Amino acid sequence: METNFVIPIELSSTQQNLMKAVRDLARLNFAPRAHAYDHAAVFPAEDFTDLFRAGLLAPVVPSEYGGLGLGPYRGDVLTLWLMTKEIAKADLSLARCWEGHTNSLVLIDGMGTHEQKERWFSGVVRRGEIWVAWSGEPQARASSERLQFGTTTTKVEGGYIVDGSKAFATSAGGAHWAILLVSTAGPGGARHSTDAVASQLLLACDLSDPSLSIDLSWWDPIGMRATASHVVRFNRTFIPDANLIGRPGQYLLDGWQTCFIPHYAATFLGAAEAAYEFAIEYVTSQSKEADPYIQQHIAQSAINVEAGYLWLYHVARMWETGRHAEAQMAGSRVRHTMEHLAEEVVKRCIRACGARSLNRPSPLERIYRDLSFYVRHDNDDHLLATIGKSLLGQQNDPSFHKP
Ligand SMILES: Cc1cc2nc3c(=O)[nH]c(=O)nc-3n(C[C@H](O)[C@H](O)[C@H](O)COP(=O)(O)OP(=O)(O)OC[C@H]3O[C@@H](n4cnc5c(N)ncnc54)[C@H](O)[C@@H]3O)c2cc1C
Repeated sequence: METNFVIPIELSSTQQNLMKAVRDLARLNFAPRAHAYDHAAVFPAEDFTDLFRAGLLAPVVPSEYGGLGLGPYRGDVLTLWLMTKEIAKADLSLARCWEGHTNSLVLIDGMGTHEQKERWFSGVVRRGEIWVAWSGEPQARASSERLQFGTTTTKVEGGYIVDGSKAFATSAGGAHWAILLVSTAGPGGARHSTDAVASQLLLACDLSDPSLSIDLSWWDPIGMRATASHVVRFNRTFIPDANLIGRPGQYLLDGWQTCFIPHYAATFLGAAEAAYEFAIEYVTSQSKEADPYIQQHIAQSAINVEAGYLWLYHVARMWETGRHAEAQMAGSRVRHTMEHLAEEVVKRCIRACGARSLNRPSPLERIYRDLSFYVRHDNDDHLLATIGKSLLGQQNDPSFHKP
């Protein structure tokens, strides 16, 4: 059945071909595997192999380094976000791992040296290497937790020693490289640190280093299970100076995280569209089209999905036309708005379909769990407060929406 969205977004034939390649992979390969990855809570390795074989693993690597040349500072970010949306429709966990990978490559493109780009981009383009970025060092312990997270980073001859642990290390066991967001002033990563900006470093860590270990005992969440966001321990891991990305503090000072905040919204949109298409299929197969309540749930869901597209398009145009300061603030708005649009779609689709749509295995059941967990990645209360602070002329942090 046609989805019949009223969305005035026109794509070039190159963009359309790219979208078709991702959509076909997502529909035929990723969606059928999603249940098993979720059930076992393991990294979706075969999906990444498929992306590599299809020439899709380096979307934001510049064309001179063998990639597709997309990205917020490369004149076409909408195509990237729509690719992410297609992947998220099949599997939100895969979309998180993919976001982590592409966001890391954007950071290398924006802050890395030519030598670093040649070294690391060739690994992605030729050998299918997977990247991720790890900040995750929440400092206040959860009531159920016995572990305490945090790293220390010390300058030594020729490099740095990183010691300690990080939680929420997405793609642990699947990725080859991680950009570690650490601080020479102490634990907290970038997200939870209160230390001086200049102490923040981005260090590229080779994850095959024997000083690293993955603690599989912590990660057992309600959703996003296949992101394999385990606790990773660094036992005095040495990282050479050649792996320092950018200047100390540059990541925060240049607001790089604001490039990635609307990317979450693209994933939420994928969740909403997948739930909507599931519901259409479900209720039409039961011949329930005449029910007035179902009609309303379907109508509101379609409108929410359309609103999500329009918001993403709006923010993408800001990036693509060089209105970067506006785009940085608008990213928080689309992230906030899309969270609520998507959650409403999923709830309405559940109401339209009924209890059996939540009986496993059901894509809608997985989307419900995944979305409810994933929207915690950035606290919406602080996000909204950040927007309010900017409107009221108060100091604010649009990167991490800190209190
Ligand atoms: C699926 C998923 C994947 C993730 N992947 C990654 C990843 O790849 N890399 C990465 O770096 N991180 C990742 N994260 C982690 C994420 O960035 C946060 O670090 C993590 O969600 C923080 O833990 P928490 O949700 O328990 O929130 P907390 O930070 O503990 O926040 C919980 C509550 O406390 C409030 N709060 C927080 N700090 C303070 C404070 N100082 N004072 C007062 N109130 C406070 C918050 O506003 C919120 O209401 C991921 C998270 C999820 C859910």
